[in-house]
Amino acid sequence: MNYKRRQKQLQSSLANSRLDALLVTHLPNIRYLCGFTGSAGVLLVTEKQCVFFTDGRYTEQAQDEVSGARIVIKSKGPLASLTEWLTSQKAIARSLKRVGFEGERMSFAGQRSLAKSMPSGMRLHSASSLVESIRIVKDSDELQLMRTAALLGASLFERTLQVLHQGVKEIEVAAEMEHAASRAGAEGMSFPTIIAAGKRSALPHGRASNQPIPGDGFVVCDFGVILTGYCSDMTRTVHVGPPSEEARRVYGAVKEAQQAAVDAVHSGQKLGEVDRAARKVLQHHKSGKYFTHSTGHGVGLEIHEAPRVAAGLEDELKPGMVITIEPGVYLPDKWGIRIEDMVVVTERGCEVLTPTNKELIVC
Ligand code: ZN
Ligand code: ZN
Repeated sequence: MNYKRRQKQLQSSLANSRLDALLVTHLPNIRYLCGFTGSAGVLLVTEKQCVFFTDGRYTEQAQDEVSGARIVIKSKGPLASLTEWLTSQKAIARSLKRVGFEGERMSFAGQRSLAKSMPSGMRLHSASSLVESIRIVKDSDELQLMRTAALLGASLFERTLQVLHQGVKEIEVAAEMEHAASRAGAEGMSFPTIIAAGKRSALPHGRASNQPIPGDGFVVCDFGVILTGYCSDMTRTVHVGPPSEEARRVYGAVKEAQQAAVDAVHSGQKLGEVDRAARKVLQHHKSGKYFTHSTGHGVGLEIHEAPRVAAGLEDELKPGMVITIEPGVYLPDKWGIRIEDMVVVTERGCEVLTPTNKELIVC
């Protein structure tokens, strides 16, 4: 990982935000900038240097992992260590007048206690999304890791098909998939696995429950793994028992909508246009009003990150962004269907990271 390059990118964006430094507290941002994967740390990034603060529990881990930053280890919590260190480093503290912090990521109480303990002469400014706006475009190292994570994630669907039968509980299917993920080397799941059968498939975020899978109807399977820090995310919807003509027709519409949105992805495309491509197909099939969420989201070190792929957004796609394309149709109290892939934006189109077939599978 080229941490130095990421740090330089952030350092050059400080001036544009009229900041002398940024206090990075959001752990995925810290990991992105210097490689630290522990759960307690603060990274101070000034125009000239990076200083990482953690406590004694992470001495060895910090020395092993942190790259491109000076490491300061104290017995106090990272933020208290930082303010104590700044107070002792008078020359550095004097050069830092405007210090940004990740306001959206910090509680009000946290912000107040930080403001109280900062050395005098230093003003805190909420500066959100500075690191996120760099993370939004993945570098080649990240893309390599994300390809591998997406393939591992996709491989779990084979296990789904082996264990998903009428009468098996949703959580049993989820547990089998999660077990297969661990055996394949995943660090964890990127979110609680969704196995939503029968009427529950109409809940866009129905987690796996204790309910046995009915003998007839759709089952939405939405799952992802974390591998070397990066999340995967995909959804396939299968049908238990012979599908009705209506079920086949709506499945076909969702598949067509999903493909239309994938086909709409390319560098320079507006995010809202990708959403519109999926919505237009579903409207054409008279299912538009049952598509109740946005078309997709960015994925990376976090399962939901920038950019959002939603109606009306004017921001444009750039090569190296990784997004999901996941339209769905949910008929309340009846059933639901969602199909989701992860794609990398390229100059002329996109590279689909989740290779799994999208034809309707009948279990
Ligand atoms: Zn998903
Ligand atoms: Zn998703």
